[in-house]
Amino acid sequence: MLLEVDRVARHFGGLIALHDVSLTAEEGKITGLIGPNGSGKTTLVNIISGFLRPTSGRITFDGQSIEGSPPYKIARMGLCRTFQITLNPQRMTVMENMLLGARQQLGEQVIMAALHPWAVRREEQRNLERAWHLLELVKLQNHANELAGGLSGGQKKLLALVQVLMARPRLILLDEPVAGVNPRLIDDIVEVIKQLQKDGETFLIIEHNMAVIRELCDTICVLDMGRVLAEGPVEAVLAREDVLRAYIAAGGEVGTPAEIATQG
Ligand code: ADP
Ligand code: MG
Repeated sequence: MLLEVDRVARHFGGLIALHDVSLTAEEGKITGLIGPNGSGKTTLVNIISGFLRPTSGRITFDGQSIEGSPPYKIARMGLCRTFQITLNPQRMTVMENMLLGARQQLGEQVIMAALHPWAVRREEQRNLERAWHLLELVKLQNHANELAGGLSGGQKKLLALVQVLMARPRLILLDEPVAGVNPRLIDDIVEVIKQLQKDGETFLIIEHNMAVIRELCDTICVLDMGRVLAEGPVEAVLAREDVLRAYIAAGGEVGTPAEIATQG
């Protein structure tokens, strides 16, 4: 398994946000993480990506222990995330945002730049080519020289998605990639994620939109009140009574229980 979360717990004072949660993400697959509001999804993603420390438990990424490592180290190992609210610099152009996403830039190491200028130029050239390829994939190539701040909300999400790919991550954590996105663009985002999976990318996705979860995920993990309620193939898990009941008991986020009930 590329990612293994093993009995991770997280307490906030007296509140237990996660009780011994275990889950895995397999290379080349799309794993969904779902659950009602407050069930612990964001806390878990923050722990996996190093933004929060677990109270107990272990996490291994590609066989290496990562729990408690700082976010930049985890990202450098190839485990990268996007945020629920996009954070791209608004006053830089779309292309500048993309190039900012590239990691291990030889040109940033002064000695490399001095001794091997050709290697640095070649790397810059490769980054540019990759940026154009990815911008084409999300149909943003004609916006490359515009300020990121001028893009629509959905386009910003697409930019955040492909920017993270500039670093050539081995696992991408997506926190609600289609939340707040215009329905017409949701299909585009889903298609892009599918295409990226075909290209070999691995994803762990938090998402409330059940149609998107069904369309994309190979397996899902359902959190409820900080515990894993169910895990397995999407259709089998979504058909479970207890999963449906957990959503209804939580007061039902807009559309979610109905979607589970009617599409199942
Ligand atoms: P989800 O993303 O599934 O909606 P969260 O992970 O945001 O759930 O929250 C899980 C629980 O942990 C909630 O009860 C929330 O109030 C609590 N929680 C999350 N972050 C903190 C924090 N920094 N301090 C205290 N409680 C928190
Ligand atoms: Mg959340």
